[in-house]
Amino acid sequence: MKAVRGTRDLLPPETELWNRIEAIARKVFARYNFGEIRTPIFEDTSLFARSVGEETDIVSKEMYTWEDRARAQSEKAQSLTLRPENTAGVVRAYIEHKLGESGQLQKLYYIGPQFRRERPQKGRYRQFWQIGAEVIGPPFAGSESPLRDAEVLEMLATLLDELGITGWKLELNSVGSAADRARYNEALRAVLDLVAPRLCQDCQRRAVTNPLRVLDCKVPEDQPIIEALPKITDSLDQESMDHFAAVTAALDAAGVPYQLNPRLVRGLDYYTRTTFEFTHGGLGAQNALLGGGRYDGLSEAIGGPKAPGIGFAMGLDRLVLTLQASDADQKAAARPAHAYIAPLGENLNPAALVLARELRRSGLSIELGDGSFRLKKSFEAADKVARRIVILGEDEVQSGILTVKDFATGTQSKIPRAELVSFLAE
Ligand code: AMP
Repeated sequence: MKAVRGTRDLLPPETELWNRIEAIARKVFARYNFGEIRTPIFEDTSLFARSVGEETDIVSKEMYTWEDRARAQSEKAQSLTLRPENTAGVVRAYIEHKLGESGQLQKLYYIGPQFRRERPQKGRYRQFWQIGAEVIGPPFAGSESPLRDAEVLEMLATLLDELGITGWKLELNSVGSAADRARYNEALRAVLDLVAPRLCQDCQRRAVTNPLRVLDCKVPEDQPIIEALPKITDSLDQESMDHFAAVTAALDAAGVPYQLNPRLVRGLDYYTRTTFEFTHGGLGAQNALLGGGRYDGLSEAIGGPKAPGIGFAMGLDRLVLTLQASDADQKAAARPAHAYIAPLGENLNPAALVLARELRRSGLSIELGDGSFRLKKSFEAADKVARRIVILGEDEVQSGILTVKDFATGTQSKIPRAELVSFLAE
């Protein structure tokens, strides 16, 4: 049996890097006063259809959906879907728990797996992990303020810096309000009616179902035609333009570098106004580290109160790939234990367990050998997993003085048990 195509097992030492990234993200989120939310892995299918959008690739082609049969008379059969993203679930929870009634902005982050039936390749999986955050609340709590957009982007720049990811690029755009987008869609359709027959098959379909998606096209031959299409920037009303100008002004003040990209419309229907993507050259074809934007109408689209918001999702798999490219992290990930305890004889196994328990309770990372091993085998095993070996024979138990060998220096020392913790911790 093998893991299903597009899924994979994460093994040590790589998982150490995953944990380190998650720990840094949690620390940064705490400094910006975000709290963690954990939503279910599956939701009612209609949640994604109504938020992400029926015509998006995610909903039309990539979701893992099944019919959940009723188990009792009182239950109804229901169409369920493994979450392809987490914003819809967060906003569903915001509505369900009436979080807006507190009158405070809700600042929520999540870390967890998402599922999309995409064509697997490097950096693209069918089960992948996202770290994301949302700032959402009633308008009077300031949820529409451009300062929120700038703050989220500044936080992301800080997070990537603290993760040690250098060379990222922030691309920024405004897709305007729902009305701006409707106007733009019309302008786009009018031109696409004329040029679509010269575009690729996918674009011809998108021109009918979801014209904005044409801007995502990567087919080289289509690019000159797409570059000449109307720009969304020209369809923004004064309010949307002012909002975007305030976002960029705040970013300029904070010294967060960005590039404007009028083609950045992103693959989900719920975005309004600010949209953004952070990319990294080291990732190859799948170069997006993270993406996000505003979704001022999402809550209402799924039956909730007016609750503008902004958020992002970063690909944890891709953060790992980026960091693995740097040698230092590979080495840090394979950190050995503080010590390996080698009992000399099976009768000393219980005493070795007691010593290991004591040292581990003091915070040291300890490997426990086995008294059935010959000393040579213990040394070989210890050298692979720990910095030092602690020999525990009858003499050591009697005298309370242990023999410790350091593999890096090759020195052997006699250490009284009371000093063992501080000696090994060095
Ligand atoms: P999206 O939810 O499509 O805006 O994606 C946000 C981020 O999640 C992307 O920038 C990627 O880093 C990551 N991501 C999306 N889809 C996948 C996938 N199939 N495999 C790995 N990472 C992904």
